[in-house]
Amino acid sequence: MASGKGTTNANVVFPMPRGGPYTYLAPEGHEQPLLPGIRVVAPFGRRILTGIVVEANVIPPKGIRLKRLKVIIDDHPLVPQELLDLARWISRYYFCDFGEAIRAVVPGIFMRVGDQRIRLIEGIKPTGLKLSALQGKIFDILLAEGQLLQSRLTKRLKSKSLSQSLASLAEMGLIEITDHLPLLPKARLRTMVEACKETPDDELKGLFTRAPRQRECLKFLQGMAGPVELSLLTRFNFSSAIVGVLAQKGLINKYQVYDPRDPFRHVSFPDYQAPEPSPDQKEVIGNLEESLDSHKVFLLHGVTGSGKTLVYIELLRPVLEAGKQAIILVPEIALTPQTTGRFRAVFGPRVTVLHSGLSDGERYDIWRQISQGKYSVAVGARSAVFAPFNNLGIIIIDEEHEHTYKETEYIPRYHAREVAIWRMSRAGRPVILGSATPSLESYHRAREGDYLLLELPERARGFPMPQVNIFDLRKSWSKKKPSLVSERLSKEIDFALQAKGQVLLLLNRRGFNIFMICEECGQVAECRQCRISLTLHRRLNRLLCHYCGSQDPILSACPACGSKRLVPMGVGTEQVESILKEKFPDRVIDRMDSDTTGGKWSHHKILERLRSGATDILVGTQMIAKGLDFPNVLLVGVVNADTAMNLPDFRATERTFCLLAQVAGRTGRSERGGEVIIQTFRPAHPAITAAVTHDYPSFAKGELAIRRDAEYPPFVNLLNVIFTGRDEKVLSSFADKTADKLEELSKDRSLAGQLTVLGPAPCPLEKLRGRYRYHLIVKSKSDEAIEHAGAFLARSVKPPGKGNCRMILDRDPSSLM
Ligand code: ADP
Ligand code: ZN
Ligand code: ZN
Repeated sequence: MASGKGTTNANVVFPMPRGGPYTYLAPEGHEQPLLPGIRVVAPFGRRILTGIVVEANVIPPKGIRLKRLKVIIDDHPLVPQELLDLARWISRYYFCDFGEAIRAVVPGIFMRVGDQRIRLIEGIKPTGLKLSALQGKIFDILLAEGQLLQSRLTKRLKSKSLSQSLASLAEMGLIEITDHLPLLPKARLRTMVEACKETPDDELKGLFTRAPRQRECLKFLQGMAGPVELSLLTRFNFSSAIVGVLAQKGLINKYQVYDPRDPFRHVSFPDYQAPEPSPDQKEVIGNLEESLDSHKVFLLHGVTGSGKTLVYIELLRPVLEAGKQAIILVPEIALTPQTTGRFRAVFGPRVTVLHSGLSDGERYDIWRQISQGKYSVAVGARSAVFAPFNNLGIIIIDEEHEHTYKETEYIPRYHAREVAIWRMSRAGRPVILGSATPSLESYHRAREGDYLLLELPERARGFPMPQVNIFDLRKSWSKKKPSLVSERLSKEIDFALQAKGQVLLLLNRRGFNIFMICEECGQVAECRQCRISLTLHRRLNRLLCHYCGSQDPILSACPACGSKRLVPMGVGTEQVESILKEKFPDRVIDRMDSDTTGGKWSHHKILERLRSGATDILVGTQMIAKGLDFPNVLLVGVVNADTAMNLPDFRATERTFCLLAQVAGRTGRSERGGEVIIQTFRPAHPAITAAVTHDYPSFAKGELAIRRDAEYPPFVNLLNVIFTGRDEKVLSSFADKTADKLEELSKDRSLAGQLTVLGPAPCPLEKLRGRYRYHLIVKSKSDEAIEHAGAFLARSVKPPGKGNCRMILDRDPSSLM
């Protein structure tokens, strides 16, 4: 390893837009090496930031006086080279700055921002000084407080431009400004004490003639097999003063050990013994094992309950034996405690978890320990794909179709699957994608031969797939008082409960848009060009397409059957729980949705109640559809399958099928069997009929044909260009101008005919948190053309000065809402 002394400068990236890399000189007389992946503290403008070294000993840019780094934080690289390369790739693929990619990769807790401490020089009086109004206010505050941090001062004065005023105050000799370095979370330390080598009894007598407690304390420690925690001594009434004296006399050792927090504190792992793999599982495992030394992407398509977890576990054994590490991605830890727990039960403390419920301190500990090689397996949600392992042997993505793998809030809007595949292509190791209902992208790639398809067509324990029944809502709805829980459904619930079983009832995410539905045939008005449902706009009294922006007058008759019975509908289903309470007053009814799962571990508690048998009926949103394995669930009911289907999104059908297949998979997991009942207005819709027959391949075939026809992924690349801002006029003209620029670009000879631009149109979610939203959809069959367009937009579009406008580039969007 290079000695620290030899390094003269380094390129550093800061976790933010336009965060570099910038070149800095090494700190004066530094001892530590400046290697890529090491954190440093550096002056940046008037601020002090934590950055990451990405390259050392570079040829410095000409004509710039380089600043010096203040501190080198780490002794060893925190971020492996592999992750730095990955961040670079992310910045290219998702059209963001290197710094923004670094911000996604490295947890914020490692990248704290420093501050400046402002101190009043003693003995100064403001009389006779010429101060501006702002400087006067600063002075008053300092007179009262003596000193404070600039960030606090900024907050109190609600002013952003303090730096100038402060600098001149310092020049006048009134105040002193010093650097205040970023604080790091404190490592948790435990104090341990241990008796030194045996001291003969008579010697002790001499030592302690007047201190019997000291002697008792020493005897107590001598009686222990090894070191004990200081807190134990205090519990036995040996004060810390006694311990201190003994340590001073050299009779005991007192020291501190690093005490990492237990990452499994909140995750229960019921007893689990990995069973012997079935012949089907063995075949799949054998196939996979042959490829552990090369980069391939496998799609493991296994029906719900086919035992995919056991396949993952068996694969980890050889990976860990070879001294390599593994990442297992799950959609959300709180919703998949069983899967997570199984890994821990088999592989013990080598397994850690990474998820959003961790405290900053926990995340800090876990990340550091992973980078130091203390763990071999990390189970976690989306961002766990960045776990800083140095010798990764495999990444497994369970339930790969889940949209939670796509970042939808922050920039870059990365997809963990694409990131995993790139990371492992560099590492030369495999990626396994597992699902009962693969995303159409992955299924298509598997059929094209880009991925290798492996199948588990039957349930591991030989139970049949549950019987799925349809209840046609058109029949009950035409009566005077339609109920959300039909007679049929409530009879089935009663039946399951009488048999001492449990019931899951799925309420899809609430449709927030209102669409027009035909009561006669269930058809919903759609845009002819985009094939997504049209949204009713009462303000305009029109039907609007949220993709292409076209408007239609409100229809008077159903385009499919000609019926005049078209009604607006936006299903409100909050009442379901209360309806059930009325119908089943003696039963325990629980609810799981975003209202009841505010607390960090509330999911967990709800699932625990279900597992223990305390809950009779659990009503929930799609949260209850995930990989739960509860044998006593005898009935799954879907209150209204259409709400997800009618969302104005090209993935609405796929999501609906997936949801139905997954939630149906929660039952029939014991010899007692299980049944599913789906209420719908559209019993003939392919998403519904395929769910009834558990026939993923034929669903995929039909839906892929539609996607090909209407030019949607996986047949084209999509780039969703989202505009948000507070002033609707300014925003829409910003969107228009950007569309014109793109139009120009697409005429470029190198791109001729390769780009299609739709819009601008208001997003289906037209306004979020006070900000208006518009979007442009860019389509292309060519990766290069999309790359060209995205890079062009990132480079050349500047938001207008007014209205707080922003442009967000979302490549491969998971939804266009
Ligand atoms: P999936 O994730 O594919 O839906 P799980 O991994 O949850 O399925 O497995 C379903 C059930 O079958 C679990 O209870 C699991 O313990 C059990 N199981 C899996 N493989 C076997 C096997 N080879 N022998 C017996 N039981 C198995
Ligand atoms: Zn109709
Ligand atoms: Zn349209």
